[in-house]
Amino acid sequence: MRLDAPALLVDINGIGELGDIAIENGEVRIGALVRHAQAEHSPVIAEHAPLLAMALPQIAHPAIRNRGTIGGSIALADPAAELPACLLALDGAVDIAGPGGRRTIKADDFFEDLYETALGERDILTGVRFPLAGGETRTGFAELARRHGDYAMVGLAACARAKEGGLADLRLVFFGVDLVPLRGRGAEAALTGIEIDDRAVEAAVAMLDQDLDPPDDVQADGATKKYLAGTLLRRVIGQLLESPP
Ligand SMILES: Cc1cc2nc3c(=O)[nH]c(=O)nc-3n(C[C@H](O)[C@H](O)[C@H](O)COP(=O)(O)OP(=O)(O)OC[C@H]3O[C@@H](n4cnc5c(N)ncnc54)[C@H](O)[C@@H]3O)c2cc1C
Repeated sequence: MRLDAPALLVDINGIGELGDIAIENGEVRIGALVRHAQAEHSPVIAEHAPLLAMALPQIAHPAIRNRGTIGGSIALADPAAELPACLLALDGAVDIAGPGGRRTIKADDFFEDLYETALGERDILTGVRFPLAGGETRTGFAELARRHGDYAMVGLAACARAKEGGLADLRLVFFGVDLVPLRGRGAEAALTGIEIDDRAVEAAVAMLDQDLDPPDDVQADGATKKYLAGTLLRRVIGQLLESPP
């Protein structure tokens, strides 16, 4: 996108150890160089990361998914991209290596501003990690784009735990609505620890008035985006309340 004009470009494609998807210590770990398509067709992702399995086919088209990497998408931090929002919804983390050694940063602290992350100038993102989905995990994903494969006008990635007929640990992450992927904390609170009926859903949708303040962009004005976010929230709550097959 020519946002950058680096004096030195380092090609990391040859670093083989960044190309694996693995299960480690109760977490799914995806190496930075795993292509979107590789993750999309991975049995590990299908079984242990249902949210990513829902989101990956929505990213652009097969030609892009064959080349784009998980690490590149997270490091680029496009505010309308699917994977940053999913990593945040999964309460995931980013593994980083740099001159000072290795460190792991929670997704909550990683996305700082428009295309700005916690990565330092000489850091490399080596992978991402997030908890394995369990029997009680519930996930939901929806986005609205003008054409399939376009960046979303508005999107929502969600993760929760089924508990006593309701939802616990709910994380609703909207994308395409701000400079970074954004949690709908008021809507989360409105849906947590209660039996979710139509009234509760509408109360959560009403909370988006406080949670979101989308700027106008080339896709839509802010008011339209907020309205569409409510539509997505209704759809995604329906997905979260379904038991997985
Ligand atoms: C036509 C088109 C449509 C697209 N549509 C979508 C879409 O709908 N949804 C979506 O989410 N994405 C979309 N994308 C983005 C695409 O999926 C890739 O995620 C994105 O282009 C990054 O590509 P890349 O992995 O090759 O990273 P690069 O382009 O190589 O890198 C992107 C940036 O991240 C840095 N970087 C990359 N890897 C690392 C690393 N491991 N450590 C540190 N820094 C790193 C680079 O230095 C660069 O600044 C689209 C792209 C195109 C070209």
